[in-house]
Amino acid sequence: MVQNILDFFKNLPDKYCTECGKKIDEQSECYGNTCPNCLHVKSHE
Ligand SMILES: [Zn+2]
Repeated sequence: MVQNILDFFKNLPDKYCTECGKKIDEQSECYGNTCPNCLHVKSHE
């Protein structure tokens, strides 16, 4: 049921960065709970 899958993703809650609290626009799970910006900053540590 493709329609059910689409509804599932549409109903997903917005994700917010655990570092800065900014809404994460990316749908990819590779960023986890951190926005790309904070992920980039962390990569320098
Ligand atoms: Zn962030």
